[in-house]
Amino acid sequence: MKTESDLSRYFGDFGGAFIPESFIPILDELEAAYLKYKDEPGFIAQFDYMMRDYVGRPSPLFYAENMSKDLGFKIYLKREDLNHTGAHKINNAIGQILLAKRMGKKRIIAETGAGQHGVATATAAAIMGMECVVYMGSEDVKRQEPNVFRMQLLGAEVVSVTEGSRTLKDAMNEAFRDWLTNVENTYYLIGTVAGPHPYPTIVRDFQSIIGKEAKEQIFAKEKRLPDYLVACIGGGSNAMGLFYPFLNDEVQLIGVEAGGRGPQPGEHASSLTYGKKGVLHGSKSKIILDDYGQVGDVHSISAGLDYPGVGPEVAYLHDEGRLEAVSVTDNEAVEGFRYLTRMEGIIPALESSHAVAYLVKDKKRFGKEDIIILNISGRGDKDVNTINQLSKKNR
Ligand SMILES: *Cc1c(COP(=O)(O)O)cnc(C)c1O
Repeated sequence: MKTESDLSRYFGDFGGAFIPESFIPILDELEAAYLKYKDEPGFIAQFDYMMRDYVGRPSPLFYAENMSKDLGFKIYLKREDLNHTGAHKINNAIGQILLAKRMGKKRIIAETGAGQHGVATATAAAIMGMECVVYMGSEDVKRQEPNVFRMQLLGAEVVSVTEGSRTLKDAMNEAFRDWLTNVENTYYLIGTVAGPHPYPTIVRDFQSIIGKEAKEQIFAKEKRLPDYLVACIGGGSNAMGLFYPFLNDEVQLIGVEAGGRGPQPGEHASSLTYGKKGVLHGSKSKIILDDYGQVGDVHSISAGLDYPGVGPEVAYLHDEGRLEAVSVTDNEAVEGFRYLTRMEGIIPALESSHAVAYLVKDKKRFGKEDIIILNISGRGDKDVNTINQLSKKNR
């Protein structure tokens, strides 16, 4: 297994940089800058300072006593929902903007689907005094109006993309185009452990603060390693962040994918379970493909899991048998949302609710002595309306 300092281009068969040649020098510049700054004491101190005093870290590791009693094993919640802006995405946004500053860039660009990465990026750009442009498919602009307004309040310009299917894929293409034109002063900030090398590594490293803290916290509380780590998987950044510091330990890793409305094509977003090898967003990974080999349609009740691929390292760990992938449907996730809310007084994001729901659904597999760390990747205030609409419909 790899060490923390390894910046490898490939993870087994997965990863790489499958993009037009003109991007190679740009990505080389990014890799060189990252290698230069990532271990520099001044850079680390600044990241640590922002994590502590701005984001509010360390996030607590909370013993979920009610849930543990109810399910019959020990569950600890890693509370990423308590971070400033309400999810784990801010860890990476701050890390990359600090890197951009060191590289002398003045302008940050990003693409966003549901708007959550856009909001995290706009937030980090505001505090760091950087210009910020967020590309978003025009369909998503319509569907995610509150997040568009939030980004604008934070000073970002939101560019509505009307090409293609007018969603995330098209927004990403526009962002790459912008980057190529404006690379002198512009940094492209990717929000999950996907994209061409070196992004999957950079994002994983900044997010691994989750697992580093969790490891210290569980040793302080239980004097031993946990038996399982459980996290939801969209692109895989909150999962990799929690898992990475435990990769070489005897700890089982479970990634929970969006099972949507069922296993039929177009009804889910379970890239590890149903995906095939292919190239998406500049790297080789497991991707949902249709019968023609094109990127297929995906669905999930949670906007953050509605992604037709997964980061290359996640695909690699799954292929190697190191990471187990399970799937939870929309309905089960809604039950998980209600369950944690009632049991612990914590309203989880619908994304994180998938991970909660898995423990409820498969509780018989765990033993009384088992210790589980469950990543609560974000808070669910943003999803309360969706749940309310559902209850009205079912009444
Ligand atoms: C974006 C998001 C996710 C999914 O992204 P990953 O990269 O897989 O972590 C999960 N939970 C929340 C709260 C999110 O905002």
